[in-house]
Amino acid sequence: MMNNKYEAVIGLEVHAQLATNSKLFCGDSTLFGAAPNTHVSPITLGHPGTLPMTNKKAIEYAIKMGLACNCEIERTNYFARKNYFYPDLPKGYQISQHTTPICKGGKVKIKTAQGERYVQLNRIHLEEDAGKSIHDIDPANTCIDLNRAGTPLIEIVTEPDLFSAEEAWQYVTEIRKLVRWLNICDGNMEEGSLRCDANVSIRLKGETKLGTKVEVKNLNSIRNIKKAIEYEIDRMINEVELGNLIKQQTRSFDANNDTTFSIRDKEEANDYRYFPDPDLPEFVLEDAYIQHIEKSLPPLPEALINKYQTVFGLSNYDAAQLCDDKSTTDYYELIIQHTQSYKNVANWLLGPIRQYLNEYSLSIEGLNLPPQLLAALIQLVESGKVNFSIAATRILPVLVKTHEAPLAIAEQLQMLQVSDSNELEIWVEEAIAAMPDKVAEYKKGKKGLIGLFVGEVKKRSKGKADPKVVTQLLEEKLK
Ligand code: ADP
Ligand code: MG
Repeated sequence: MMNNKYEAVIGLEVHAQLATNSKLFCGDSTLFGAAPNTHVSPITLGHPGTLPMTNKKAIEYAIKMGLACNCEIERTNYFARKNYFYPDLPKGYQISQHTTPICKGGKVKIKTAQGERYVQLNRIHLEEDAGKSIHDIDPANTCIDLNRAGTPLIEIVTEPDLFSAEEAWQYVTEIRKLVRWLNICDGNMEEGSLRCDANVSIRLKGETKLGTKVEVKNLNSIRNIKKAIEYEIDRMINEVELGNLIKQQTRSFDANNDTTFSIRDKEEANDYRYFPDPDLPEFVLEDAYIQHIEKSLPPLPEALINKYQTVFGLSNYDAAQLCDDKSTTDYYELIIQHTQSYKNVANWLLGPIRQYLNEYSLSIEGLNLPPQLLAALIQLVESGKVNFSIAATRILPVLVKTHEAPLAIAEQLQMLQVSDSNELEIWVEEAIAAMPDKVAEYKKGKKGLIGLFVGEVKKRSKGKADPKVVTQLLEEKLK
């Protein structure tokens, strides 16, 4: 029930685990799935006397994301201790950024049914992850796995600038795409590499002040983000319609029935007693360093989608599909080094190649097909020597396996298109003989039937007849 009287306002906080090999402040591995509590040095455990050291790679990755989102990069940074007690936070504080997030402002483009627009970011800051409390192994106890403690995160915080569950869905989809594109996070929500807190409020349409928000914590799939927001909007509208006030709360999502429930009412702002971590010196980012990172960025999807439309003449849809993940784009770029049929290459990647990958549950990386061979197959079709559907269904699978020249494969399979009129004549005669009624209709003027005859010849030739020559032959014979 999205009531016409109200408008929803949403702000998202997305935590992305950075794909560094080691943790943010020590050399412990960040590998997912290790035996519990095996990646836990004294630094991770926060033993007295240990000294953290900042992982430069994490800083580089945060800057990459900031540059990709048009943020301003903070030059003078420090880490702060955010003090609170939590069983899976061994130090009793989380090292985070406080007054100086490494990236400020910025924007992310989303595309919805209403069109494209930018979502405003508030900031992106660096912090360390906590460990994990596990409630479902032992019926009487909670178990703690501290392997994750200290893993670097960036937290990407939007302004309250999303206005529907659908927009939130699109936004998180874009964020996931972008971190994968930049190769700074695997974006794997099932493993918790990307998690989201959704802040939701409603207000009367036309109202400019923000309503009281609730925060739904730790959403671990894009579907759940959407469901949680939808549920909250409905719940809040109901409350307000009943004359009740919205309580500022922290809530959790129940994936069993797509509802949310309160985990605590917020009485007052938490006091985390932030202070600069005395063990970690301030760090200053020099212009040259930031420029160096900027130069290392791959072309971003937005720019490529633009180029594919304006320079290569692709449709917006095809361009966006090609730029949906970087491996597809990279493969496309490799193929077009061998042929300039930009549109046909796009058709092949989004058609037969995608089908082939689906059929064999492969990814583009898992497809062992050198780009020049695919380019050669595409050219073979363009030259008229084989028809498209034979190339896609019969030659492609052999090509992937043997890496032989597409022309040689077509010859071996006897799949070369027949353009020789003498050879074609037999099929043409057969087609005409098979459909005397249609021939009579054609001769009376129903010229559209020519397609039917061509189709019949194609069928009889098992797809090998060259349709151009066949059409000519038929037209002569049916005069
Ligand atoms: P907190 O201090 O409670 O974490 P912040 O002001 O830092 O709150 O904002 C956290 C997130 O909540 C941001 O993404 C922000 O855009 C969003 N937000 C803040 N107020 C509202 C509101 N009234 N409705 C929806 N989202 C909000
Ligand atoms: Mg918050």
